[in-house]
Amino acid sequence: RCLQLNSVSRVCSAPVEGEASQNIRLLQWNILSQTLGQHNDGFVRCPDEALTWEHRKYLIVQEILQNQPDVICLQEVDHFKFLQTVLGSQNYAGIFFPKPDSPCLYIEQNNGPDGCAIFYKRDKLQLQGYDTRILEVWRVQSNQVAIAARLRMRSSGREFCVATTHLKARHGALLAKLRNEQGRDLIRFVKQFAGETPLLLCGDFNAEPVEPIYATILGCDLLRLGSAYADVKLDREEILQPSADLGEFVSESMKREPPYTTWKIREEGEECHTIDYVFYTPDRLKIKNCLDFPAGEQIGKNRTPSFQYPSDHFSLVCDFELLPSMENGKESDGEN
Ligand code: NDP
Ligand code: CA
Repeated sequence: RCLQLNSVSRVCSAPVEGEASQNIRLLQWNILSQTLGQHNDGFVRCPDEALTWEHRKYLIVQEILQNQPDVICLQEVDHFKFLQTVLGSQNYAGIFFPKPDSPCLYIEQNNGPDGCAIFYKRDKLQLQGYDTRILEVWRVQSNQVAIAARLRMRSSGREFCVATTHLKARHGALLAKLRNEQGRDLIRFVKQFAGETPLLLCGDFNAEPVEPIYATILGCDLLRLGSAYADVKLDREEILQPSADLGEFVSESMKREPPYTTWKIREEGEECHTIDYVFYTPDRLKIKNCLDFPAGEQIGKNRTPSFQYPSDHFSLVCDFELLPSMENGKESDGEN
């Protein structure tokens, strides 16, 4: 995959001293569970050999490491120990939280349950605490989970929170409603954990921008989030301009989302749509760059997964700058 950030070379010019340390590169990716991908998903156009763990594991690690993220949010992780070992050797530490009744466990050749994971770069960031949640729908636990972590930048003491989730899959109005309820529970969980701290909330929401959950998250008064891929081409003034109408703010953001974050072919047909997001706190985080997705020709006619792409989802990579909080016009940071 070509390392282009909005057509600007990925080899970033050396940042101005002091500013570099406030940059956060986040990688969000549904890596495709090994057990589900190989035995359950029905990717009819993907050669069996491309779906083996022996083939996929190097591609997954390569994709993560070549992007040099500071924070990694993953879904469908069913080889956490492997990732912990490999990424651990590259200075990352991680947290894993499995789904309570992972579909992997119903498949004979499984490697344990799948779940969400967050990794962070140890030399740059310090884990201040984390929490996990089995998302509730109408006060009943569902099979979907979330992790939230508080991270402190070693250079400045500034803190931010990162949260990740993987919502209920499949189509239909009832499932869209269920995802929306999971989203409402996610918001409560994340708000309680993060308070006023700047937030990165990302994951596989299994919902296109037109689904209710997109508006639920962007319209949430408690969190006041924007969507990184939708905002990246806007000027900062446009992003911060308070929109008179919430409905319009959401529908404008929706229109700017990329055309797809996943592209696959199953027996039922081809699916090419946007269901993965990186939401962020625009007041305190400046979105500087987002990694473009490969074009159709690059992906190939059999789409993904393939020998080239280990997952049916593409990774979302975003560069943020963490801005100081301004209290009474005065900068106030983590340790103050
Ligand atoms: P979800 O409905 O959220 O989906 C589980 C996984 O299936 C996701 O990782 C999803 O990937 C993937 N998926 C989405 N669409 C398809 C598709 N068309 N074909 C194949 N896979 C797809 O799972 P839940 O956690 O709610 O668990 C429910 C599932 O677990 C059931 O569907 C069942 O198969 C299995 N199960 C089996 C039991 C049994 O055998 N007795 C008991 C309990 C559960 P993505 O998010 O990337 O779309
Ligand atoms: Ca999947």
